[in-house]
Amino acid sequence: MSEELRNIIAETKKQLEHLRVLGVEGIQVTAEPVIAKPVVVSRPEPVRPPVLIETTPPAQPVTSLFGDIAPAPVKLTASTETFEQIHAEIGDCTRCPLHLDRTHVVHTEGNRKARLMFVGEAPGADEDIQARPFVGRAGQLLTKIIEAIGMKREEVLIGNVNRCRPPGNRAPTTEEATTCKPYLLREIAIVQPKVIVVLGNTAMKNLLDTREGITRLRGRFQDYKGIKVMPTFHPAYLLRDPSKKRETWEDLKMVRDYLDSHP
Ligand code: URA
Repeated sequence: MSEELRNIIAETKKQLEHLRVLGVEGIQVTAEPVIAKPVVVSRPEPVRPPVLIETTPPAQPVTSLFGDIAPAPVKLTASTETFEQIHAEIGDCTRCPLHLDRTHVVHTEGNRKARLMFVGEAPGADEDIQARPFVGRAGQLLTKIIEAIGMKREEVLIGNVNRCRPPGNRAPTTEEATTCKPYLLREIAIVQPKVIVVLGNTAMKNLLDTREGITRLRGRFQDYKGIKVMPTFHPAYLLRDPSKKRETWEDLKMVRDYLDSHP
């Protein structure tokens, strides 16, 4: 066999092997010269070995603007404390400068199973002398407001963010409020009223931790750890501007309706 023929056979074998790899199972062989037609072969899809991909957990549902998980709403847990324990702990308090001018520490008073609570700012002159919250002129108006919604003062709970009278009835400073507020919050955790009415800006800002003003938030239920909070005007403000009594009455009717529909 000539060298040339051996090369042709080797080349043909190579071509056939190539066609087989491409999926050609047979070729027609005739005596006549074959006019080469373009062979259209469909390339079989290469079988890929399984690729191990690192899987990521399924995407979390977007719960806040930037995809981070919104904190679960905080609910008050049951408290095992008593008012007596808290008041004993407060004692003859000197934790903030308000103690310098006060006569009495004025504690929260009223029904410790109340469904409705009122929270004011701090005692005034009458409260400081009598050691009871809301007993002065503003307090008398508050009693009328309570009676207007068909309740008695003894049925509700009444307290203040601060328990000592600020000199000249000024608003307590942030530091004074921050020092005293935890005792009020512990009392709220014991009683867990259905509704808390916050009276005026200072009480509202301290309970709700908000920078909003009373004029914007009054008349709209807010939330404190699962408790409905209704901001409304302070009775001392109503004494200065009686025209605001109408809005206060609207706010209190909402409170009454909520309590009636949540026995
Ligand atoms: N104002 C308050 O905020 N609280 C009182 O107890 C009396 C007046």
